[in-house]
Amino acid sequence: MRIYDIIAHKRDGLALSDEEIAFFVRRYTDGAIEEYQAAALLMAIYLRGMTDREMFCLTREMARSGEMLDLSGLGGVTVDKHSTGGVGDKTTLIVAPIVASLGLKVAKMSGRGLGHTGGTVDKLESIDGFRVTLSPEEFIKTVRKTGLCVVGQSGNLAPADKKFYALRDATATVGSLPLIASSIMSKKLAAGSQCIVLDVKCGCGAFMKTPEQARELAKKMVAIGRHEGRRMAAVITDMDAPLGRCVGNSLEIAEAVRILQGQDGGDLREVCLTLSAYMLSLGLAITPEQGYAMAKKALDEGNAYRKFLEFIAAQGGDIRQIEDLSLLPKGRYSRRILAKDEGYITAMNAEKIGACAVLLGAGREKKSDAIDYGAGIYLHKKIGDFVKAGDVLAELFTSEECKLESAEKEFFPTVDIGGTPPEKKPLIHGTVM
Ligand code: URA
Repeated sequence: MRIYDIIAHKRDGLALSDEEIAFFVRRYTDGAIEEYQAAALLMAIYLRGMTDREMFCLTREMARSGEMLDLSGLGGVTVDKHSTGGVGDKTTLIVAPIVASLGLKVAKMSGRGLGHTGGTVDKLESIDGFRVTLSPEEFIKTVRKTGLCVVGQSGNLAPADKKFYALRDATATVGSLPLIASSIMSKKLAAGSQCIVLDVKCGCGAFMKTPEQARELAKKMVAIGRHEGRRMAAVITDMDAPLGRCVGNSLEIAEAVRILQGQDGGDLREVCLTLSAYMLSLGLAITPEQGYAMAKKALDEGNAYRKFLEFIAAQGGDIRQIEDLSLLPKGRYSRRILAKDEGYITAMNAEKIGACAVLLGAGREKKSDAIDYGAGIYLHKKIGDFVKAGDVLAELFTSEECKLESAEKEFFPTVDIGGTPPEKKPLIHGTVM
């Protein structure tokens, strides 16, 4: 078999055989196929697409290119969730303790911030002492005891995807539905959970800009998971505006805690209850409506909050910072952004708000950058709110005073103020089961 012929087959619109896909993934991962040949094949896939059978095979090969976690010894139903990435998305911090407090096992590998989107692992590291790197034995032991554990992604989880993703990033081939679906699902399959709920974001702050595109991606990922025998659901949620009021690591931890304590509500609580409902539905074989009621009770009665404290303590985090949120890192310098006009907030651009938080230090501009855990943005106003000139729209936080000026300039155009109230858009655009 020759990679040259495989490229030519895809270029000519043929479906690749399982053997051709396996050859490509294995030989590229071990370095036997040149980068330029892999790039040519990825571009051919981008332009020609893939059949479901090809996509299933590609996912399986990428998942099996490294370690496949065996969670069968955990003594319970294992459930995972994945978000396709957004701004202010701290749902894992809320959803995982909700479902763990109801008996499901959450053995989760999470990512770091990428571009304008934040990552759960960075958020958790804003708590003193919290360990996101555990040995496989510690990881399993913690899930068995606490019901949940969240760690950074192991280097040996779907290593083929790591290589492919870097190449796609450099060759304008990221935006292909079968390549995105197989990339995400290869990691989810390797991470071992029996039930997987996908939070597929759509809107200006997400990969998928429209609900229709998000639904197409969701359908493909659900089909891949089912083909591998996993119980699957996807929820399509809005990411035109940031989720919740906080963007930035410790600010988001504090917001998650307030939701868990029942102090805050709004869009964030609603998305978390919906995701939990589907996780519980898959894990306990109940309806999503029953799952929603159980999740709400776990939040309202404080069981999810108690589970969160247990989880933070089990991974070495200082729970005094959770019990007293003023002890979390907070940028020394802040600036309030005041509305210049009167009217209704008609739009808030999630992508640009995420980029502004990165500018303040909440994310990395380069891979090697250190995170300023206390940097970020608190949104005092959200879409639909009425504001008068001089009202506080948002507050920016950073440890480096010199960043405030440019961040303020970046923030202003992210908010549109108009004379009429905006049409109410759905927060949940639908589900794929
Ligand atoms: N996230 C992934 O893990 N892979 C993609 O291809 C896109 C988003």
